[in-house]
Amino acid sequence: NGATKQPPMPSPLRFSKFFQSNMRILVTGGAGFIGSHLVDKLMENEKNEVIVADNYFTGSKDNLKRWIGHPRFELIRHDVTEQLLIEVDQIYHLACPASPIFYKYNPVKTIKTNVIGTLNMLGLAKRVGARILLTSTSEVYGDPLVHPQPESYWGNVNPIGVRSCYDEGKRVAETLMFDYHRQHGIEIRIARIFNTYGPRMNIDDGRVVSNFIAQAIRGEPLTVQVPGTQTRSFCYVSDMVDGLIRLMEGENTGPINIGNPGEFTMIELAENVKELINPKVQINMVENTPDDPRQRKPDITKAKELLRWEPKVKLYDGLPLMEEDFRQRLGVPKSN
Ligand code: NAD
Ligand code: UDP
Ligand code: UDP
Repeated sequence: NGATKQPPMPSPLRFSKFFQSNMRILVTGGAGFIGSHLVDKLMENEKNEVIVADNYFTGSKDNLKRWIGHPRFELIRHDVTEQLLIEVDQIYHLACPASPIFYKYNPVKTIKTNVIGTLNMLGLAKRVGARILLTSTSEVYGDPLVHPQPESYWGNVNPIGVRSCYDEGKRVAETLMFDYHRQHGIEIRIARIFNTYGPRMNIDDGRVVSNFIAQAIRGEPLTVQVPGTQTRSFCYVSDMVDGLIRLMEGENTGPINIGNPGEFTMIELAENVKELINPKVQINMVENTPDDPRQRKPDITKAKELLRWEPKVKLYDGLPLMEEDFRQRLGVPKSN
């Protein structure tokens, strides 16, 4: 009929992308330990707008207080098991309690967070065409029979144990990520994070580094769970955040291990903390919990090759940085 056809209206997201090159980034779980450090780093780039969605189960507004009111920052009280309708370019999906005492507190909720929460974030990524990064965990290797653990190892996980809500939850989350990638072409990134420590960890969250540091500062005995010869590899949080951003910005889906290969027994860790923080404290052996992995150490060959990443901060240098933060929060200054 001769009428000229109108071009289709651009979606609001594409429209805004056309006029500004800002990157809008969603961080779920951004009020938590790793999430809040990630937000700090992302906010350093003036082109980034950061939206945090968090239900404050284990995180707090306090971790983000320096950004509240900032024009490029937004904080939403939101549970990822519910639908979220916003427009973003990238999603860092961290929401999930990470400490065993918190993820075991309401295991059904932990599964829901991992499965329904990840499904929702993938649905969001699909609707708006965003790239999504999942923070998976070394726990997908369970009590590993291969040491150190490469990404190709499928793991040794108890499907019905008290840790399974977390371990199996993250395994399903990884499966969902790959199915959305294969079925819907979503751009995915999977980081398998190994034990991470640093300032802002919950003081009483029950993880070993935070426990030992708080105990040493309070002058209480350090509680090494038997046998004490079990090992972990501890990554300082700034190294972790660098690794996550490199993975997001790079071309590889992963999964990629991000962690520090320096391996310590829990007795060695206790001795290090004692020497650095309070040589007077005792080290006590206490009961352990079921299914505690006996060893854990990342093989980071892939991260080195594909991300050009490796950790810089040694445990011996990272512990004092965390001590400072814990002393402030506990109100116990260092006496010389
Ligand atoms: P964290 O507990 O400090 O942070 C998790 C954040 O997610 C908190 O702010 C919490 O309130 C929020 N959250 C939990 N459930 C939610 C829900 N249903 N909806 C919205 N928000 C929710 O833990 P973290 O150490 O910062 O861990 C962050 C991520 O990294 C987690 O996915 C965790 O599984 C993963 N990870 C951490 C470690 C580690 O050593 N810290 C190791 C492996 C994997
Ligand atoms: N979803 C969401 N935000 C969106 C789009 C989807 O939270 O912007 C949720 C939605 O509630 C759904 C899930 O993501 O439960 C999966 O979405 P998808 O479109 O892949 O599946 P469907 O809705 O067809 O089951
Ligand atoms: N652990 C310990 N004393 C504590 C808390 C934990 O010896 O007060 C041990 C625990 O048995 C495990 C290791 O430290 O072998 C790491 O435990 P954490 O809960 O920090 O992390 P995850 O088990 O998830 O690696």
